[in-house]
Amino acid sequence: MKKRMICLFLCIYLLLIFFQNSKSITASTTVDISQPVVALSFDDGPSKYTEKIINYLHEEDVVATFFVVGNKVPLYQKTLKKAIKYKNEIGNHSYSHKWLSRLNDMEMKEEIEKGNSVIKEELGYTTKLLRPTYGGINQRLRDNTNLQIVFWSVDTKDWKYKNVQSIVKETENTKDGDIILMHDLHERTLKALKEIIPLLKEKNFEFVTVSELEKIKFLRNKIKK
Ligand code: ZN
Repeated sequence: MKKRMICLFLCIYLLLIFFQNSKSITASTTVDISQPVVALSFDDGPSKYTEKIINYLHEEDVVATFFVVGNKVPLYQKTLKKAIKYKNEIGNHSYSHKWLSRLNDMEMKEEIEKGNSVIKEELGYTTKLLRPTYGGINQRLRDNTNLQIVFWSVDTKDWKYKNVQSIVKETENTKDGDIILMHDLHERTLKALKEIIPLLKEKNFEFVTVSELEKIKFLRNKIKK
């Protein structure tokens, strides 16, 4: 029993050190991994709404993950650099939003690698994540990339709904560890976000990037063992 207690304290101590040293853990606060966590994710941008979304997230001390379409990156270089400065994460969502799982191996690799390159060249950022276009996945896609493939568990359907309340409603059953899918292409998405974030904060959710979410799940599993 005593041994177990020492082990537990050691684990907590190591976790504290881990979080203090980890630059990727959120902006100004330390994440309490006993609290429910959620990752907001945005696909298909950047667009003229991205900067407004980034500014709002920053005001709320919230971070998110942006899965960008490569050919839009140069036009919004400044916006995305700001996103990185504010500790958001950038993921690859292909170069020109072709349906990745339907391409042949060569085209598939090219779409992914061009996406990685433009993110690296324009933003000086190395992405670790890939969100497949149209949520399409197959073994070839898994075999043709070293990036971590990321889906979602809550779909706000903000591409379909025209009214803000329907988007907000899709998030009402958000659980600990969920990844929420949104698109930084619409004004209604920003408006919905301004309701979703306060509602989740009321339920004590902490907002993390997708990579941080992975780390937290890993650490929680370690503690359990
Ligand atoms: Zn998409």
